[in-house]
Amino acid sequence: MLRNDQIDKWDRDHFLHPSTHLAQHARGESPNRIVRTASGVFIEDRDGNRLLDAFAGLYCVNIGYGRQEVAEAIAEQARELAYYHAYAGHGTEASVTLAQMVLERAPKGMSKVYFGLGGSDANETNIKLVWYYNNILGRPEKKKIISRWRGYHGSGLVTGSLTGLELFHKKFDLPLDGILHTTSPYFYRRADPSQDEAAFVAQCVADLEELIDREGADTIAAFIGEPLMGTGGIVPPPKGYWPAIQAVLDRHDILLIADEVVTGFGRLGTMFGSDHYGIRPDIITIAKGLTSAYAPLSGSIVGEKVWKGLEKGTDENGVLGHGWTYSAHPIGAAAGVANLQLLDKLNLVENAGTVGAYLNQSMREALGDHPNVGEIRGDGMLCAVELVADSDTRRFFDASDKIGIQVSAAMLADHKVIARAMPQGDIIGFAPPFCLTRAEADSVV
Ligand code: PLP
Repeated sequence: MLRNDQIDKWDRDHFLHPSTHLAQHARGESPNRIVRTASGVFIEDRDGNRLLDAFAGLYCVNIGYGRQEVAEAIAEQARELAYYHAYAGHGTEASVTLAQMVLERAPKGMSKVYFGLGGSDANETNIKLVWYYNNILGRPEKKKIISRWRGYHGSGLVTGSLTGLELFHKKFDLPLDGILHTTSPYFYRRADPSQDEAAFVAQCVADLEELIDREGADTIAAFIGEPLMGTGGIVPPPKGYWPAIQAVLDRHDILLIADEVVTGFGRLGTMFGSDHYGIRPDIITIAKGLTSAYAPLSGSIVGEKVWKGLEKGTDENGVLGHGWTYSAHPIGAAAGVANLQLLDKLNLVENAGTVGAYLNQSMREALGDHPNVGEIRGDGMLCAVELVADSDTRRFFDASDKIGIQVSAAMLADHKVIARAMPQGDIIGFAPPFCLTRAEADSVV
């Protein structure tokens, strides 16, 4: 094993980390935890610290760490056939089996699945497919995409633009033209004090209508949204939000992309968030829970209407000019198959629902009346605690105090629990693996 001081130096000198304060890291002013091993809901670092990972990595290790069945499936696939591409109709048993398993579990009306690598590239694929679809239908001007403030859809050029968080735009010259943002369904912060949930939903709908009218429905191709907003602060939709939004989109012939990178494959206690909230998507983005992050793999599940467009398009124009070398990578696909099998075998989706409800309830009972807790919200195995300087007035803490970061750092130092300070606002996020037990939920609380 490398010496600690050596790995520390190599890390700070050579490794350009994602989503990191690079200068502080290089100067050694921020932690650089090197994780060594993990099992169940616990990770262990090189110094022997055993930490309860209440965020499942980046809400992706849904089945929990150290599952030998998945490790074996990956090893077996690597020995047998580490790689072959999926271009021009090629495939592997693993990729074809996984496509079948995904469609069996998908909401009604879905036709095919394209496999990519991560959530960002899957959403890039989705936008290209939507543009292609409208070109095939002979309406080349119908191309703009509506996303929501505080939504998260990745950090590529288009996907970083779709993301409605300032951190991902600042100094990157994003968002790109043609990406529009509408009101976030964040009842706690966005609703007027006089509004109940129904009035706030009506407001979100009116704002969307107004945006569509201003831009012209014939210029707008699709609306993208997470069934429950994740990175923007773990924000469940207010009651009735999705059917009301869907009605507007249907009326204007605007496609709906449900970004289920976090909610897909069980995090809300149902297989898909679309089923959970009554959404009828045209395309569904999947990633994290598809393999529980044992290998990188994502997907775009395409509904009947878009599939018909793709079929017509390739009949008229030939090969679809879109694909990655690693699309449907066999090792990712083998991990996906083993992961979905385990999800069923161990009833983990059901556990996400029941233990997730217990976690949310316990958090409310323990912290609901705290003067610095503004709101506790969540659904399934997702929970957020929003911290405020004064719960009566909902006053924010001074941003420079970085209270969210301080609280999550204290949870780590004092209780060995990892929770995530969400990127915007003093919000502590919880998204444990689905195998969390009630006793483990108690230690998180
Ligand atoms: N979409 C959603 C809803 C996400 O939460 C994420 C990542 O957290 C992404 C897309 C981007 O996925 P990736 O980081 O794999 O590119």
